[in-house]
Amino acid sequence: MTSQAPRDPLAGLYQELILEHAKRREGEGAIEPFDAERFLRNPTCGDEIRLRVRLDGDAVDALGWEGQGCSISQASASVLAEQAPGLTVAEARQRIEAMRELLRSRGGVEPDEALLGDAVAFAGVARFPMRVKCAMLAWVALEEALDQAAR
Ligand code: ZN
Repeated sequence: MTSQAPRDPLAGLYQELILEHAKRREGEGAIEPFDAERFLRNPTCGDEIRLRVRLDGDAVDALGWEGQGCSISQASASVLAEQAPGLTVAEARQRIEAMRELLRSRGGVEPDEALLGDAVAFAGVARFPMRVKCAMLAWVALEEALDQAAR
């Protein structure tokens, strides 16, 4: 280990997982029917996502997204789409909050792998404040879609 700060948010242990998800694009596509849809853009990077969610009672039944942008934003959407179906809305919100806390920690929070699964791969992004919005974009889109569906 070096005490020098990493220069690349994709450097290190989780680089391959992020690049693999950026390529796999789990959950890509527009689902029908759906209960809520959110379109979000990250102006600092140009990332875009259109995310749809379908609920079954108080659980996430399906999540679909379409988007473009950097590897971090696209991989983060893929990881979210892999995890969200089957969670209750409360569980999904808990994960979104844990992801936000991790990414805003600037490296000060130990990632909760039991809760976040592959999303801990984005822990390194916390050291790059400019890229936090990239990693959060899909998760905020889901949070807002859940808000919308609850209304
Ligand atoms: Zn980005």
